[in-house]
Amino acid sequence: MSSENTPRGFLINGKWITNSQDSFESVNPATGKVNYRLSSASQEHVDAAVQSSAAAAADPAWRDMLPHARAQILHRIAAGIIERADDLARLQMTENGKVWAECKAQAASAAATFRYYAGVCETLGAEITPSRGNYLSMTAYEPYGVVAAITPWNSPLTMEAQKLAPALAAGNAVILKPSEVTPSPALLLGEIALEAGLPPGILNVLTGLGATTGKWLVEHPGVNMVSFTGGTATGRAIGVTAAQRLIPAALELGGKSPHIVFDDANLEAAVENIMGGIFEGSGQSCVAGSRLFVQRSAYDRLVSLLVERAGRIKVGLPDDPASEMGPMASFTQRDRVEKYVASAAAEGGKILLGGKRPEAAGLADGAFFLPTIIAGLDNRATCAREEIFGPVLCVLPFEDETDLIAQANDSSYGLASGIWTSSYQRAWRVARALQTGLVWINTYKQLSISTPFGGFKESGMGREKGVTGMRLYQQSKGIYWSM
Ligand code: NAD
Repeated sequence: MSSENTPRGFLINGKWITNSQDSFESVNPATGKVNYRLSSASQEHVDAAVQSSAAAAADPAWRDMLPHARAQILHRIAAGIIERADDLARLQMTENGKVWAECKAQAASAAATFRYYAGVCETLGAEITPSRGNYLSMTAYEPYGVVAAITPWNSPLTMEAQKLAPALAAGNAVILKPSEVTPSPALLLGEIALEAGLPPGILNVLTGLGATTGKWLVEHPGVNMVSFTGGTATGRAIGVTAAQRLIPAALELGGKSPHIVFDDANLEAAVENIMGGIFEGSGQSCVAGSRLFVQRSAYDRLVSLLVERAGRIKVGLPDDPASEMGPMASFTQRDRVEKYVASAAAEGGKILLGGKRPEAAGLADGAFFLPTIIAGLDNRATCAREEIFGPVLCVLPFEDETDLIAQANDSSYGLASGIWTSSYQRAWRVARALQTGLVWINTYKQLSISTPFGGFKESGMGREKGVTGMRLYQQSKGIYWSM
C-alpha cells in the first residue's frame, strides 16, 4: 500500500494509488489515537476506476470465463482470507473496536461466504422454461457489468464479503467503497483478490468519504448497479440517484427490531439471547434487538434477570480476551448514543442500567459506553422509534398477542424480529404477522449464508445471501428459439 508518511493508497486496475492532496484519518476508537491516514479518491479517480472496471468486465478473459474457473478464483480468495485472517481481524478491530473473537469469527465467515458463492457459481445456470409450440424457451442470466458496492463500518468484513462474492460469482466487475471509518479490511481484501488471480480492474477499491467519493461513484454514468448497506437516509438518497439513472439499487438499511418474550418462554435462554442480540458489537448491528417487548405477567422477573446479567458484561479493550464488549466504533457514534439516552430521560424513561461511560481506568480515552437498559418509555418515544445503533435496550410491556403485534409492527423499520414462547402455534401466528424480513423463534441473530437476508418497509429492498444473493447481481434474458 504505502509508507506511513504518505496516506495509504487505494486500488485501481491492480495498482495502488495515493492521493496526498486529499486524505483522511483512521482513528482507533479504543484509544482515541490516530492509526494512519488514507487517501480519498477524487472524481477523476472514480472515473478511472469505472473505466477500468468497465473494460475488465467486457474483456473476454473475464466475461467468457467458465464458471468453474471463476469459482476457482473465489476459492483462492477464501484461502487467502483464511491465511490473512489475523491481519484482516486486526484491521477491523483497530478501526471499529469490535472485540478480537468477533473480528476473527467475521474473517472466517467472510471466507465461508466466498466458498459458498464459488459453489453457487458452478451450479446455478440458465433455465429451460416450459413453452407451448415448437420452440425452446430459455432464461439466461447475465451480469450487469460494473457494480458499485458501498459498505458501512459496523461489520465491514462480513458486509464486504456478502457483496463481493456473489457479484463476482455473477460475472460483474465491482468497485468497492468501504466506510471511511473502516476502510482497511476492504483494501486488504483487494490485495488478496489480486493475489488469488482476479484480473486487475475486476475489483477496484476506492477509499474516501461518502458525500464525495461515494456520491460520485453512484452518480457515475458507467456504473450499472448499486449495492448499498448503511443507514436509511443514505439509502434513500442513493435510491433516488439510482432511480434517476434507471439502474437497480439493492439497499440493506437500518432496523429497530422487536425482540419479544411471552410469559410461557424459557426466560433464562431468552435472557442470554437478548444480551447477544443487543450488546454484541456494542449494539452496532442492523439486526440489533433494540425494542424488547415483554408480556406484562413476566415483565418484573425478566427485567430483573436482564439487569443482573447485563451488569456482568465485561466492557474492555477489544484485544483483551476477557472483554465481551468493546468501544463504540467512533466518538461521533458515542455522542449520538449519549444524545439518545438523554432524550430517553427527558421523555420520562427510567435508566435501569448503564446510561453512561465506564469509569474503569484504561478506558477513559476510548469511545466506550456501558450496556444500557431503559424502561418506562412508550413505543412511540424517540429511543423506541429511531435506530440508536448502540448498546441501548428499551424494555416495553405488552398485554397479549394482539397488543404485541400492533406495537411491534408500529415502526417504519422491518428488518428482523425474535419471538420467545413455548407455544409453537403462537410462534407461527406471530412470525407470520410480524412485518420483518427475518424472524427468529427461540433464538436470535442465528444467520446462515444460504438464507436470504433483507428487510421489509424502510429497512431496505432486495435480498442478499443465498442463491437470490447471486441473482441480485444478474439480469435475466429470455431467449426463444424456434425448433
Ligand atoms: P452510512 O449510511 O452513514 O454510510 C454507509 C456507507 O455509505 C459508507 O461507506 C459511507 O461512506 C457511504 N455514503 C454516505 N453518504 C453517501 C452518499 N451520499 N452516496 C454514496 N455513499 C455514501 O451508514 P453507517 O453509519 O456507515 O452504518 C450504519 C448503518 O448501516 C445503520 O443504519 C445500520 O443499520 C446499517 N446497516 C444495515 C445492514 C443491513 O444489512 N440491513 C447491515 C449493517 C449496517
